Amino acid sequence: MDLDLLQTTLDELGQPRFRHKQVWAWAARGAHGYDEMTDLPAALRDELAERVPFSTLEVQHQAESRDGTVKTLFRTRDGRPVEAVLMRYRDGRRSLCLSSQSGCPLTCTFCATGTMKFGRNLTASEILDQALHFRRIEDVDHVVFMGMGEPMMNLDNVLAACRRLPDVGVTHRRTAISTVGWLPGIERLTETDMPIRLALSLHAADEALRSQIMPVNDRYPLRDVLAACDRFYARKRRKVFIEYVMLKGVNDRYAQAVQLAEALDPKAYKINLIPYNPTGSYDGSSREAIEAFRAALEEHGIEATVRLTRGQDIDAACGQLAAKALA
Ligand code: SAH
Repeated sequence: MDLDLLQTTLDELGQPRFRHKQVWAWAARGAHGYDEMTDLPAALRDELAERVPFSTLEVQHQAESRDGTVKTLFRTRDGRPVEAVLMRYRDGRRSLCLSSQSGCPLTCTFCATGTMKFGRNLTASEILDQALHFRRIEDVDHVVFMGMGEPMMNLDNVLAACRRLPDVGVTHRRTAISTVGWLPGIERLTETDMPIRLALSLHAADEALRSQIMPVNDRYPLRDVLAACDRFYARKRRKVFIEYVMLKGVNDRYAQAVQLAEALDPKAYKINLIPYNPTGSYDGSSREAIEAFRAALEEHGIEATVRLTRGQDIDAACGQLAAKALA
């Protein structure tokens, strides 16, 4: 729901201040439309239904994986594709993977989103509407900004959405923003009052190799990015998650694990190894190679886990969000 439009509409209708809060409270708790908002006058509900679309996004396609993962392709009012994913875990956790941009202006060589045309930054309402869509299906408790786009290039809107996520059921501590290492964004997140988690897509500890697979490294070299992450930890006392996608023969050698472990203070970082979801240009490391890499990291004193791959059969896994249905 476009919350600015809601406010101007309520003002035009001469409604009292508390109406905005009332409407939002219903939406945040998973209401499907204005007609459910029984503490609003019926005439007002009708008026709002006319003038303020219940969502800024239209569902274009939705698929459910064998493992329960749901991927939804939305379209913005101006026709931009946006995808988001609901992940269901056995322990009951419900985690949303949200997009911050339609497409992505960065060109990480292994990522499908990077190959699609960049559309634009999403508004805070468009980000929230992804979450509200899934909240209408069931309760949710975690959010990761690991969908399409680079959240730190749209940080105002991402943070504005984060401010409202607790109303939807997701506390700041259960919210994580993932970045390629967009330095000014990391610095701003360090300064916010919200205890949001930081995740860094690292992928190679060697500067030259990292630049090759993630051209953004030329602009913000890893050395500077890690210094900013160290400051984040010093300030927030929350471990930074390192994402490391396992590319066969590229970044999965023993010596590279050692170099990675040496670059990171085990107090401040936790590593998440991501099995590569084939999206074209690379081969993923084998299970054995990933396990060996993980063991090498632990042997060098740093905690590492392997990310569960979810929703691969519906192209909902990491790096697969490319709005294929529109291609
Ligand atoms: N731009 C931000 C947010 C996107 S997060 C960032 O890069 O952090 C998406 C995560 O999935 C990133 O860690 C990215 O490196 C990873 N990823 C991209 N393509 C992938 C693929 N094909 N297989 C597995 N992980 C991938």
